[in-house]
Amino acid sequence: MRLTFWGAARQVTGSMHWVETGDSRILLDCGLMQGHRAEANARNANLPFAATALDAVLLSHAHVDHCGNLPTLVKNGFGGDIVGTHATNDLTRIMLLDSAKIQEQDTAYLNKKRGLRGAEMLVPLYTRQDAESAIRSLTGRAYDKWFNVPGAPLRAQFLDAGHILGSAITVVEMQENGKTLRLGFSGDLGVKDKLILRDPAPAPAVDYLIIEGTYGDRLHDSPRDSEPKLARVIRETTARGGKTIIPSFALDRTQEIVYSIHRSIQSGALSPLPVFVDSPLAMDATEIYRMHPEVFDAETVAFMERHEDPFGFRQLTYTRDVEASKAINDLDGPAVIIASNGMVEAGRILHHVKNNIGDARNTILFVGYQAENTLGRRLVDGIKRARIFGEEYPVRARIEQVDGFSAHADRAALLDWVRPIRHELKGVYVVHAEADAAAALVQGLRELGIRNALAPTYGQQIICD
Ligand SMILES: [Zn+2]
Repeated sequence: MRLTFWGAARQVTGSMHWVETGDSRILLDCGLMQGHRAEANARNANLPFAATALDAVLLSHAHVDHCGNLPTLVKNGFGGDIVGTHATNDLTRIMLLDSAKIQEQDTAYLNKKRGLRGAEMLVPLYTRQDAESAIRSLTGRAYDKWFNVPGAPLRAQFLDAGHILGSAITVVEMQENGKTLRLGFSGDLGVKDKLILRDPAPAPAVDYLIIEGTYGDRLHDSPRDSEPKLARVIRETTARGGKTIIPSFALDRTQEIVYSIHRSIQSGALSPLPVFVDSPLAMDATEIYRMHPEVFDAETVAFMERHEDPFGFRQLTYTRDVEASKAINDLDGPAVIIASNGMVEAGRILHHVKNNIGDARNTILFVGYQAENTLGRRLVDGIKRARIFGEEYPVRARIEQVDGFSAHADRAALLDWVRPIRHELKGVYVVHAEADAAAALVQGLRELGIRNALAPTYGQQIICD
């Protein structure tokens, strides 16, 4: 078997790994690379292989850095199946359509400026039609059952990764020289005790493992600590007569925050107050969460038996259209406003932050990782004035952070996950991690006794036998 790492190599986006055995070639994930615009555009638009040579894609989950470049693959002639779990495929549909809309809108915006100075027009990375073609290639499989990979003489299996709805650990089994060889891919590995989802399945028995290492050098709080902290911040803000503004990604984090607030109201930790989810994409994602209770953990199932809908309660309003979104501004008194994106870089959250940041009664509450060079990160770092839509606003609102809502296993959990299979592993490859985190996890894996552990570079090929 030959592995080639065409993305998420010493970085956290653009997940894409090429697996070749005999005459078969499959891809694990086909994600968008995000980052510096010119570099990301070039990488996403120019696939480093012939899409027509591929037999199938196995998709770990619906985050755009894992599925977001599938339309480019199909646009370039890939005609095989894209296999994911049923929930992953349902979420991938809305994520790809949303991504195509962003690609088209961004290109139209740039072209407007380019037109003024007579520059050549750009084409979007892909269009809605390309996304729809990719969506038609999606084919669903259940967790835990072996299936034949369409178009290739290989078997594969999805195990629950506990990261977002439908997320999977992938196992690929192949025959080489009369021997059975198994490759595992962690996808993004979730955390134990996360709300809504089941715990990640134990590591499968495999010969070679591709493992994510987002938190390869760090520990984070347990999800169990997050809910009381979230409730406390909302309580304190409400006591001041203020609003709590929560920047949150539309997929997974928003559903988790809504469910957590619902639980806190039910338990009495929080008095009922108006809560708004101001995001069309979050509304769509929530609908898909509601369609897949079969993958919820026992606690969520029990909650549903008592209170019905984890993602809906009397004081909660989802807003889709722009007028309803603007109307939230006119509201007096305490409320919670959840909007995306989570790092305050784009989307409706910018308006809510702008309208509320100047009032000391309010709180901006961060519930996710804040990357460098984002407004979210600058606010967490304590800037006194924030620049939004070209204007400066004084930061008077309180800035708070709850970090236990992470959807990724931390260093200790990653190493604990690998430990039971360490003696059988012939090689472990760390992906989906910045260089420092990757190096730290490689070191940890070597300390477990896995000598052949490394963090591949972009385009690196490894022969596994
Ligand atoms: Zn993910």
